[in-house]
Amino acid sequence: MICPECHAEYLDHIQECGDCQISLVDACPIDLPIPDMTWSSLPPFEGKIYADMAAELLDQHSIPYYLKMDWFSSAFNVEATSLSGQMVRIFVPEEHMNKASELTLAILGQAK
Ligand SMILES: [Zn+2]
Repeated sequence: MICPECHAEYLDHIQECGDCQISLVDACPIDLPIPDMTWSSLPPFEGKIYADMAAELLDQHSIPYYLKMDWFSSAFNVEATSLSGQMVRIFVPEEHMNKASELTLAILGQAK
């Protein structure tokens, strides 16, 4: 078993990293080479509602992405859309950047 955070190795019967307090994972998946992918950030979205709209568009076009918020809403189950001034960044692989910018341009326009 291996810690996904600090990459320390543990015996198989140990479930949690003593340093990071997170669940250990099987060593195999992270031994695989990381896909050669460069992630780029789209312009930040002001509010999760716009980020969600953008994410939906990316979904429709099979563009991989991940969202990064300046807020721990997911961890604490807080409904983030009720908060103003929240910024959400969407990261897409560089090769999909042009298409993603094009798709999300309309949403960014609305957000202004
Ligand atoms: Zn650890």
